[in-house]
Amino acid sequence: MGISKDWIKRSTLVFLTFGSAPLFAQEKDMGVAASIPPIYSLVAGVMEGVSRPDLLIRGNLSPHTYTLRPSDAKRLAHAKLIFWIGPSLETPLEAPLKTLAKNAKIIEISRNPKLIRHPYRMVHSDLSSSHTEYASLDPHLWLDLENARVIVQQVREELAAFDPSHRALYEANRDRMEGALLILHEALKKTLLPVQERTFLVFHDAYQYLEVRYGLKGVRVVGGAHYLSLKPSHRLQLEKDLKAKTIQCAFREPFFERAHFNDLFAQHSVPYGVLDPWGMTLPLGPDLYFVMMRTLVGQLAGCLPRKP
Ligand SMILES: [Zn+2]
Repeated sequence: MGISKDWIKRSTLVFLTFGSAPLFAQEKDMGVAASIPPIYSLVAGVMEGVSRPDLLIRGNLSPHTYTLRPSDAKRLAHAKLIFWIGPSLETPLEAPLKTLAKNAKIIEISRNPKLIRHPYRMVHSDLSSSHTEYASLDPHLWLDLENARVIVQQVREELAAFDPSHRALYEANRDRMEGALLILHEALKKTLLPVQERTFLVFHDAYQYLEVRYGLKGVRVVGGAHYLSLKPSHRLQLEKDLKAKTIQCAFREPFFERAHFNDLFAQHSVPYGVLDPWGMTLPLGPDLYFVMMRTLVGQLAGCLPRKP
């Protein structure tokens, strides 16, 4: 089930030219940091050949709920330019950014007016953010490639202002990233076309940007947006759906502590796959975003029956 190893290998090879070289002696640590792996990857792509960013949220944990460790606090205090989505995504970063990153310029990506935005599809009573203007924004916005392009442009502008001596290199990197994103978009579109009408189930309402971009119509979300809160009623509804054969594949995320309802899926012979919208399991580098999207889409399309 799922994506073939060969497919991953091929799609990874395409982007090997990006490389993920170690920090060379001539590359100075510039104090640039990014919150989550996909944002790290886009920032690293624009910085390639100059320096590498630091990753703020590490480990196999949900960025919505993780707990800051002392080493994370050190990273924050060291940073001079920080990219994050915003309080509705990396909620645990909100307070530390204020207290620890006092000397940094902090770029809250979700405020960029050029981004494509989708409101949440459900009301989330468990979101206790004080930023009411963002409470309705679905912050998983990097899963739309057009938004990735907008982020690359924003990162280029910020870096050029932060470090004008490498302005030309940042521009060249932006152009290359935009070209690669376009190729990626065509590949994802082709892969998802035969499964647009299929129904799949997820336990985290994170995929709206991907669904809208590629016309996926059949997502079912069980549990909350950010925080998994499964109730007995979920199991009952799920049993009904499985009996009616409306679900063709179910997906969990890598850091879920267990596979929810796996007994039910097994009983009804529904394949159970893994989707990683955070790139948590991938090697850090400029090509992480590309590998993450190809793997995510490959897992989806590989699990679902194709149009005859
Ligand atoms: Zn989420």
